[in-house]
Amino acid sequence: MGRRKEGSLAGLGVKYGATLRKRYSKVFRILKSKRACPSCGSHKFKRVAIGIWECPNCNFKVAGGAYDISLEQVEL
Ligand SMILES: [Zn+2]
Repeated sequence: MGRRKEGSLAGLGVKYGATLRKRYSKVFRILKSKRACPSCGSHKFKRVAIGIWECPNCNFKVAGGAYDISLEQVEL
């Protein structure tokens, strides 16, 4: 197996260690993933603040988890 950079996480450097980088990677992936608006189904649904998700299409707003609307626990 050859060495490969972890894509967008390469800039994080090595000083944080592999464990933290793995956790960051998990959160990063969740934040970047697209999700549909529960109200209108628009994929522009996004997080506007910690725990607040909003759909610019229909102005549907919902309080959710800090990192994902599913309230799924993310260990940091
Ligand atoms: Zn919507």
